[in-house]
This record gives sequence, structure tokens and C-alpha cells, in this order.
Amino acid sequence: MQVVERGGIEVREVPEHLLRQFIRGSFDEELINKLDLEKLTDPPSFAELLLLVRREEARRTEKRLRLEKKKEARVHSMTVSKESEAANVKMMEELQARVAKLEAKGQVCAPSTASRPEVKTKVERKERRGKKSIFCFKCGEDGHVANGCEKTANAELVQKKLLQKTLNSEGTPR
Ligand SMILES: [Zn+2]
Repeated sequence: MQVVERGGIEVREVPEHLLRQFIRGSFDEELINKLDLEKLTDPPSFAELLLLVRREEARRTEKRLRLEKKKEARVHSMTVSKESEAANVKMMEELQARVAKLEAKGQVCAPSTASRPEVKTKVERKERRGKKSIFCFKCGEDGHVANGCEKTANAELVQKKLLQKTLNSEGTPR
């Protein structure tokens, strides 16, 4: 307080003078702006100032934590969707295999339809269509499923077939 003693500034101006020094000296402009110190008509006491700063700092910490949580949640949901995508593919494979098995069974123990020929043709048509629509999820060829397939895997062909199938089922009215 040598300045005061030498009469550089009047005593009643000291708090504001200190305040300005505080503002100038602070490297954290954003924080100072948030505090709106310039707008204060009555210069706050040091304790009040400290309180303001602390409050703002707490607010920031809270905000940062919130953002981090959000980011975490986003990353988490992304991994989940990736996982579920893989699960979907697996489920489709399993379903296709199961359908193929059921179709094969239907062929083996087809009900005696000799007495009802029109039913038989219906069933046959259905089977033919079913057989045509299945393809191997490993090699991508028609007529069999990945279960027990010993051909070389061809992911590209499988993808193409999947896409084709999706387009077909969307395009044909049922
Ligand atoms: Zn195959």
C-alpha cells in the first residue's frame, strides 16, 4: 500500500483500483467477462469477489462435466449400434438357416397331398420360390446356407445379394 501512503490515490478509491488490477492481471478473460465486474457500481469486497469467482468456476466445472457425460453417452450409443448391427447380421443368418432347415424338412415329410392336387402345386410353388430366395451367407451362392458351406467366403457377393434381396422384397407388392 505504498501508493496510498504516498498519496498516489485516495483511500476510498483503493478497492476499485485493486479491482481493476485484478481485472487487468487476470489471464482468464472469459471468466472475468462472466463476472461482469465492470458493471458493478459498488466495488465488491475481496471476499465477495472471491465468492463470485468461485461461483463461476463451479458453474464451469459443472458445465464441463455435463459435456463430458454427453460425449460419453454419444460414444456409448455408437458402440451399441455397431454391436446391434453385427447382432442383426448374425440373427439374419441364423433365421435363414432355420428357414432352410424347415423347408428341407417340409420336403422330406411332405403331407400326403395326393388326394388334393391343387394344394400340392401350391406347396411346390412355395418351395421353389423359397429355395430360390435362399443363398449362402458365406460364399454368396444360391440354394444353400452358410451352415456347412465349404466354399471360399465371398463377402462382396453376400452383400450384393443381401442388397438385391432387400430391393426385391421392397419392390414386389404382396
Ligand atoms: Zn456357400
